[in-house]
Amino acid sequence: MAVTGLCILGATGSVGCSTLDVVARHPERFRVVALTAHRQGERLLEQCRRFRPDVAVVDSVDAAERLRAGLDAAGVPTTVWHGEAGLIQAASLPEVTAVMAAIVGAAGLLPTLSAVRAGKTVLLANKESVVMGGALFMDEVRRHGARLIPIDSEHNAIFQCLPRDFAPGLDGAGVRRLLLTASGGPFRQFPAEQLAHVTPQAACAHPNWVMGRKISVDSATLMNKGLEVIEAHWLFGLPPERIEVVVHPQSVVHSLVEYVDGSVLAQLGHPDMRTPIAHALGWPQRLDVGLPLLDLVQIGQLNFEAPDRERFPALDLAYQALRAGGGAPVVLNAANEAAVAAFLANRLPFTGIGELIGRVLAQLGGEPAGCWEAVIELDRRTRATCAAWLGGEA
Ligand code: NAD
Ligand code: MG
Repeated sequence: MAVTGLCILGATGSVGCSTLDVVARHPERFRVVALTAHRQGERLLEQCRRFRPDVAVVDSVDAAERLRAGLDAAGVPTTVWHGEAGLIQAASLPEVTAVMAAIVGAAGLLPTLSAVRAGKTVLLANKESVVMGGALFMDEVRRHGARLIPIDSEHNAIFQCLPRDFAPGLDGAGVRRLLLTASGGPFRQFPAEQLAHVTPQAACAHPNWVMGRKISVDSATLMNKGLEVIEAHWLFGLPPERIEVVVHPQSVVHSLVEYVDGSVLAQLGHPDMRTPIAHALGWPQRLDVGLPLLDLVQIGQLNFEAPDRERFPALDLAYQALRAGGGAPVVLNAANEAAVAAFLANRLPFTGIGELIGRVLAQLGGEPAGCWEAVIELDRRTRATCAAWLGGEA
């Protein structure tokens, strides 16, 4: 069995830690070549002591010096790099065959792109890079012969429900539509007037999944599902009207594929990211991750309902951005990151997230983004526009 040389971008985050948990159960199959983190140097040091990667990457010179000292004290010979250049280099090391792209937000774009350009197998958790890059990103995947395996549980579920040789558009596979399930988040049943007063802490307490703070807020606003609709459009090549969202509070059915003959295939499992991670790490083989059996009798019910598009306007903003094309998804993503950061810092109410995105999308959403320079410039301009607007409000 070939040993997979693994680089984990965002190793200290929720997806990164779950990835290392799977790797630790199958030490004969993986060699950890590189681990990266932003500011969680202590956790990265622990991971380096345990997995002894060739390279570790942190955000700054100071953080690199601290990590170096810790590694020396522990007798670990890992090389330490820092900054975006370090991330880009780590993702394209020749010893690396697969890259787990698990940095959160637009910060993951260039490192993920580096893995794509080096023709790696890219295990894609960082949905924001596909949302931003769209056709440019998919074009790079094709040109460099990279393989994308989705980690997002919904897209991984769809990947599992498609024939192995599926081609974009899915017409050849006889697919009618994709159904993305959404938990509905912690405020699914909150009346509209309460939403203005919910706290970051409440937004981050997801009923089914334990995740990083940004994606937890995205799940609460339904922007996560909106970003996932855009992600599904690019990964599977279907138009927006053939990608639908259904709220499923138990998070047991992870998504569904409907075929022209009326068959609907779904992937079910515990709401535990180790399942899609293990699927992608082992593909096309299956890896045991030690999860308990799925007890359907105990679960008892699987419920489905339509998303409330008025209380959670982010979902339609995402469809709107996808239909508009050009730079609109770049603006949507950057405005969302800025708004979520402001909400987490108690500078914007929860309902202000959708308002800010809608306003900035109306202002900048018509801009083109036909090359990477334009994407990066539009991302920067959107953040500056949001900052000015948030500054004016404060
Ligand atoms: P997280 O906040 O727990 O971890 C993020 C990781 O990225 C950390 O290792 C952090 O150090 C690193 N990071 C943050 N900012 C960085 C920067 N500027 N430069 C370099 N590294 C940086 O996030 P997460 O929940 O693990 O999510 C990671 C990605 O996976 C996101 O794109 C998210 O949408 C996606 N995803 C997560 C889950 C989940 O269950 N957590 C599920 C599906 C998809
Ligand atoms: Mg998801």
